[in-house]
Amino acid sequence: MKKDCHYCQLIADKDKKKIYEDDKVVVIPHDKPATEGHVLVIPKEHYAIIEQVPDYIVSHAFSIANKMSVALFESLNAQGTNIIVNNGVAAGQESAHFFINVIARREGDGMDFQWRPKQLGEEEMSTIELQIKEQTKSVGEFQQEKEKPIEMQTKTRKISSGTEEKENYLLKRFRKIP
Ligand SMILES: [Zn+2]
Repeated sequence: MKKDCHYCQLIADKDKKKIYEDDKVVVIPHDKPATEGHVLVIPKEHYAIIEQVPDYIVSHAFSIANKMSVALFESLNAQGTNIIVNNGVAAGQESAHFFINVIARREGDGMDFQWRPKQLGEEEMSTIELQIKEQTKSVGEFQQEKEKPIEMQTKTRKISSGTEEKENYLLKRFRKIP
């Protein structure tokens, strides 16, 4: 947790109502919503930009964003959703804590994400494509969550190895509860 971070403080604030919470992320409504139904999926740990976020948290956060999107369809009759990350100041990021916006959309809601297509020559297009491709050699790797150390003493009742395995499994499950 970063003391001077608005979002770290929100996450730690027990009085702040959370729409959803687990050991990795919280979901809260945006306090200045773009439409009726604008929520933020925020990793509990402080990461400034998406590049710093471990893959397993990115993966989890987007999975929750997807489910929040479904919830907006079901609960608020959204006709569409935008799922957006403002990554970096140049992209409109205003706070140094990475999060995902999930915005409910309806026809005629006044939101406008249109852009005017750039006219690029064929050569320029292929140069850009090559430059991007050179940086993609390790994109298929996935950073898994490390096994957390066992903090509780496992009971080693040697009734059968199966029982012991089951107890270990239950302990691992238990530790996922914050
Ligand atoms: Zn923070």
